[in-house]
Amino acid sequence: MSIQLLSPQLANQIAAGEVVERPASVVKELLENSLDAGADRIEIDIEKGGHKRIRLKDNGAGIAKDELQLALSRHATSKISTLDDLERILSLGFRGEALASISSVSRLTLTSKTESQSEAWQAYCEGREMAVNIQPAAHPKGTTIDVADLFYNTPARRKFLRAEKTEFQHIEDVVKRIALSYPHASFILKHNGKTTKRYIADKHGSLASRIAAVVGQKFIDNAVHINVEYEGITMNAWLGSEVMLRSSNDCQFSFVNGRGMRDKLIMHAIRQAYESVWGVLEQPSFVVYLTLDPKDVDVNVHPAKHEVRFQQGRLVHDFICKTVCDALHSITNESETQQHG
Ligand code: ADP
Ligand code: MG
Repeated sequence: MSIQLLSPQLANQIAAGEVVERPASVVKELLENSLDAGADRIEIDIEKGGHKRIRLKDNGAGIAKDELQLALSRHATSKISTLDDLERILSLGFRGEALASISSVSRLTLTSKTESQSEAWQAYCEGREMAVNIQPAAHPKGTTIDVADLFYNTPARRKFLRAEKTEFQHIEDVVKRIALSYPHASFILKHNGKTTKRYIADKHGSLASRIAAVVGQKFIDNAVHINVEYEGITMNAWLGSEVMLRSSNDCQFSFVNGRGMRDKLIMHAIRQAYESVWGVLEQPSFVVYLTLDPKDVDVNVHPAKHEVRFQQGRLVHDFICKTVCDALHSITNESETQQHG
């Protein structure tokens, strides 16, 4: 076969293989876009575990009519323009791939209105060339993205979709993680028309009350709260006390500069601390927020951004481990003093 350029649709479908694993990955990408656009109210409507439909409506900045086409094109982003920007990244997105990828493996429509526009516009992609059609629509300021029939044209992917219930659990998990890092925003999640999660921001955007809503009041009542800074790294954390140990790891949340992730280094440091203080048999519960200079962490390691790479991995690991150890020791000592006194 002679060498040919891939059609835009095929190139996007190949890229989608990395970013769009299942309905929950679509929800994650769309939520991140809404938050990057400054939205503080996001409604998520799911039908049949996302197999049939995923719809997100936000009240963010919107996309101007003449940028709709670009928004749906690969490698088009408003978030970075130089390598320097990439090294100082604070937005959740930056690859400019999500919308193009998702729309190549589903029927995606994008409806949006900016503050300065008097009307809203709707766009969708068609065919191998992914030509963008644009027509007028009705929509308040903000954006709605409707993703129907995910993987309808990629049967190999579609085969890997699990039962509706399982896929929806993954979606809930994504929404929880994101809600935990954006306490100022409200999230409403519906499945087949029924509201399953409602996280409404209080007027201070209090982290503690968001954690109570997502993880449970009991967790926060029993957790130790620490907020420690060392060499430019801040760790704000709620650590479950011993009684809260659960047999599964569904209550382990860690965030780096506002990005939720299951990073091996962080997980290892925390487990090691729990083990050294309490000899952990089960899974500890924790919600940990790390903040450090974006220059010192590389988020461009994985297309779905599940992992990061720390410039000074050892230092970060030991800081986390020692801080958690100290905190756990302090409550262990406290309860011993109470028992003896
Ligand atoms: P990235 O987020 O990596 O820039 P995406 O493909 O996810 O790439 O989105 C492409 C562009 O479309 C974004 O850079 C942004 O300008 C715009 N966009 C996407 N979703 C929204 C939204 N909900 N509100 C406003 N702008 C959006
Ligand atoms: Mg994005």
